[in-house]
Amino acid sequence: MTAALVLCGGSGSRMGGIGINKTLLSWKGKPLFIHSVSLFVSLGMTVIVTAPEQELPRFRAALEAFSLQAAVVPGGSDRYLSVLCGLRSCPEGTENVLIHDGARPNITAGLVEKVLASVMEHGSGIPVLPCYDTVKTVSDSVITGTPDRRTLFRVQTPQGFKFREILRSYENHRDHSLSFTDDASVLEADGAKVFTVEGLPGNTKITTREDYALLNGNSVRCYSSGIGQDTHRLVEGRDLILCGVRIPFEKGLDGHSDADAATHALIDSLLGAAALGDIGQHFPDKDPAYLGVSSLKLLGHTVSLIREKGFEISHTDLTIICQRPKLAAFIPEMRRTLAERMAVPLASVSVKATTTEGLGYEGRGEGISALAVAALYHWES
Ligand code: MG
Repeated sequence: MTAALVLCGGSGSRMGGIGINKTLLSWKGKPLFIHSVSLFVSLGMTVIVTAPEQELPRFRAALEAFSLQAAVVPGGSDRYLSVLCGLRSCPEGTENVLIHDGARPNITAGLVEKVLASVMEHGSGIPVLPCYDTVKTVSDSVITGTPDRRTLFRVQTPQGFKFREILRSYENHRDHSLSFTDDASVLEADGAKVFTVEGLPGNTKITTREDYALLNGNSVRCYSSGIGQDTHRLVEGRDLILCGVRIPFEKGLDGHSDADAATHALIDSLLGAAALGDIGQHFPDKDPAYLGVSSLKLLGHTVSLIREKGFEISHTDLTIICQRPKLAAFIPEMRRTLAERMAVPLASVSVKATTTEGLGYEGRGEGISALAVAALYHWES
């Protein structure tokens, strides 16, 4: 039996230069990591995804959205420890294992089969490509050497191994985890002979925003915007929750869910920008499933829906219209809460609050309103 380990980050890791977990970025209508998981599943492999602890539900939801069977386990504090966590989660009877970066979406069945054939024949298979640039060693801005580039190769994943052998090497070296930048080098450290296969030119790893733009080739970013508005009545005996944050106050907003008017306005703006209808269509207030539900849960579901359609969030802005209580002290936590739930950088989420100088129903303290604007983008060729 062959297991495929797909690495999507460890504990608390925000990967690369993108500022969010890049493996969740959308490409061709699917999160990046889904592309390799689908391929491994279609080849009959047992798939294990390692992801940051706090993002496990998001990864599970994405797998469910694409009807893919895969285990999702928490990673460690660095790549090495994440691989070790993944290897330890492989089911009994695993003979071969492929270890793959979730941020390399562009692999093919041909490459995977080549790697696996090398594992069968030699015990390992590492995809490599020749190095066409001349490579220098440099120290303090001075060149110290020019290695013969014919002996230099660029390494990719998936890297294939005999399960017992790679697990043993990973257990052996876990005290020096930071000195390894790929899986083959862990086996090399034990003196093993590690075999290569020809890699795939398009199998790039997405590390920076530029890589992500290149992955989308000559496509252009197309922006769309959406607007949302919501109002709920202030009543006694309810908690006041805005942007997922509980605000101490003698009244709270009345409604079927937690009545978080700010998050509801935001959800409507996101749905609007993707032309996916409105909150009432997706989460009917007659449905007992949504009785008392946290609106953050609905927001997470909304973000999955828009990502499934190939949209990414560029920016959201929210204004809460509220005479009392004063909200200024809660705004940083509101932004953090929303950014976390939408898996976007904090800088992409704005929350503001205003009063109406005592005018209207908000001014009289009868209710709280919110207005939201969302800018989304998708790639078009
Ligand atoms: Mg509402």
